Amino acid sequence: MRSFCELSLDELKSWLKTAEEKEFHARQIFEWVYQKGVISWEEMTNLSKNLRGKLISAFRLPSLKCVKVTESNDLETYKFLWQLYDGNLVESVLICSGDRRTVCVSSQVGCPAKCAFCASGKQGFLRNLSSAEIVEQIVQINSWLKKKEERVSHIVYMGMGEPLKNYTAVVESIRKICHPDMINLSQRRITVSTVGIVDGIKQLANEELKVNLVLSLHAPNQHIRQKIIPYARKYPLQDILDAMDEYAAKTKRDITFEYTLLAGINDHPDHAMELGHMLKGKQCTVNLIPYNPVVGLRLKRPDKKVIKDFRSVLYGLKIVNTCRYTKGDDIAAACGQLALQEKSSILNVI
Ligand code: SF4
Repeated sequence: MRSFCELSLDELKSWLKTAEEKEFHARQIFEWVYQKGVISWEEMTNLSKNLRGKLISAFRLPSLKCVKVTESNDLETYKFLWQLYDGNLVESVLICSGDRRTVCVSSQVGCPAKCAFCASGKQGFLRNLSSAEIVEQIVQINSWLKKKEERVSHIVYMGMGEPLKNYTAVVESIRKICHPDMINLSQRRITVSTVGIVDGIKQLANEELKVNLVLSLHAPNQHIRQKIIPYARKYPLQDILDAMDEYAAKTKRDITFEYTLLAGINDHPDHAMELGHMLKGKQCTVNLIPYNPVVGLRLKRPDKKVIKDFRSVLYGLKIVNTCRYTKGDDIAAACGQLALQEKSSILNVI
């Protein structure tokens, strides 16, 4: 059975035709799902019972089962645990900040990048998500937000997985999310975060999409970076930076670098100096994220004084930087990575 979110409007129209139903129902159904956040066929009251019966037997909606919603103590962050049709689990995080409702989506089950500070990386890579599975994370959270009369306003591809290693589905999901017949979100409200997949960055620069791109840099040189992100061995840092420059030039979007500060590994003033020189002259922002300890990992967060000194060096080199501490550690412990080192920066980059 197909997942409903796989369908384009035209595909739904042709299905309706084959099912001997009127094509105009396609728009009604899309409006229920993508605009009104309705994911139960029974609630689509302007469709006949007969048509609803046909839709139930033809399409999976919802196709993600919400296993659990965990909220942070301050009620600003909600983690959604989804079960996929094959039993695998992925997560999304909703971050409420002022008027913004930002969703951090997963793009893969597990992750091939194996970053040292990330629990998702530790479980290894299992499979790519389809574009429908990515889009449905937003549809379901819109449905959940309906009771508060709110909608998702921003999306970040920073959850489980390396988005550019699931390139086709991720780009397809972005087009669906932005399509006026579907969720209809501006491309400028979408951010893709990558550990630096050079061919993926170059390809994305040619898609004529205006999405924000964030590089999870985490180190001032290739040597340290390889220790933090084993996957980085495949991609020389200079090639990644050149690809990021190409992306910025083609899309006219500023670029953001994320730098998780890990005690004794990448937090020395000399590292700040090296980082500053590497980024000098670039139209960019560095988001510093003091590491948020994860149970089972030995890494530590630097002291406040160390962070202050690191920032002073960057200021001295005129590198725009922000620093945010993560909140909601209760969620952090349960959630593996999923934006928990990174969610602090989500609020900065969009
Ligand atoms: S931090 Fe992101 S890219 Fe790195 S292993 Fe975790 S999910 Fe993958």
